[in-house]
Amino acid sequence: MNLSIVEDSHSLFLNHKFQNVSKNGKMLDFDDTYIPEEIDELGLLKNKIINYLNNGEYERDIEKVVKLAMKHIVTTYKEVNNPAVVLDIDETALSNAQLHLENNFNVTYEKLIEWRYSQKAVAIKPVLELYKICKSMGIKVFFVTGRKKVDKDITISNLKKEGFDNFDGIFFRDPELSVGESKVKARKEIVGMGYTIIANIGDQLSDLLGGYSLKGFKLPNPLYYVSFNKK
Ligand SMILES: [Mg+2]
Repeated sequence: MNLSIVEDSHSLFLNHKFQNVSKNGKMLDFDDTYIPEEIDELGLLKNKIINYLNNGEYERDIEKVVKLAMKHIVTTYKEVNNPAVVLDIDETALSNAQLHLENNFNVTYEKLIEWRYSQKAVAIKPVLELYKICKSMGIKVFFVTGRKKVDKDITISNLKKEGFDNFDGIFFRDPELSVGESKVKARKEIVGMGYTIIANIGDQLSDLLGGYSLKGFKLPNPLYYVSFNKK
């Protein structure tokens, strides 16, 4: 068989999809009336994500969002009483990307716990910088996480190890509530303590929806999705 594969122009980049398979210029024996456009198969998607994480694009996207958040914080904090900022932890303050890469994106619960206990999650630099600037400006910073209280010590230890060392409070998941509801409840508590949450930063919409902050900022997360209603 001497097949030549004619790739369509936009998929040359992926070196994968093909429009027509021809033999000596003639179509092969299949119906080409409608050939569905292929979506990326899993290996390609994984490669795209790996590239996104490793080629600097991921960090640049984070930087862009953090810059917007910082601009908002600087212009707002003097206008409110007791300004505070809320940060999510995973894929916001700390990166677990290495865990997902090491496990070829198949992270079991056991692997996740082992990773958390090893405290190998690293600071997401632009967020750490924002954290330090906020602290130096006298703005309180609270962490609101979907992690459960059983992981309290290792979580605090990992945060401190990575430079988030003098935060003003941390709220873990309420086991009775969904991730989203639990985070809304935590922000409500912070507001109840007399603070104005001027910015809330997270990598999931479930970090941001539900109010009790002046503005939310959404970071990218190519690794996983956490719905508001996740129990
Ligand atoms: Mg997160």
